[in-house]
Amino acid sequence: MKIINKPFPLIKLVIKNGLNPTSNTIFTYGKKIYNPAGRAIPEDLIIHEMVHQKQQGFFPRLWWRKYLRDPDFRFFQEAEAYAAEYKFICEKIKDKNYRVKNLIRFAQTLSGPIYGNITSFSDAKVYIDSWSRLVGEDYPKVRATTSKTNG
Ligand SMILES: [Zn+2]
Repeated sequence: MKIINKPFPLIKLVIKNGLNPTSNTIFTYGKKIYNPAGRAIPEDLIIHEMVHQKQQGFFPRLWWRKYLRDPDFRFFQEAEAYAAEYKFICEKIKDKNYRVKNLIRFAQTLSGPIYGNITSFSDAKVYIDSWSRLVGEDYPKVRATTSKTNG
């Protein structure tokens, strides 16, 4: 992925659709990560953005359109990305308190204003935690099941 330290071209649309990114928020568009603040991006966040890259495939424009208009779609796309990010942390760090702290941080972010308050904290926590255990071998199967029940 290529990191570009410039404003995200769709930022006005993002805000217009009820999302509230912070000055530190980064955005994936296809193979590009827009990093307006030019901050250092931690490894686990790169994993998160790689999930969005995969979700977008060859159609980042269509993905963004659906992502901004459809809060349920946005929730599932983000839950999947946070699950991969959380799994990455769990594989690297064995300290249970550190893991829980990160799970809570992710659930707070996913249920907060950045994404337009699309879910409750407890739902966000359950989805990220349980999905993180499934990412990997069973991943494609889980994905197919989710899109069936979701669409
Ligand atoms: Zn995300």
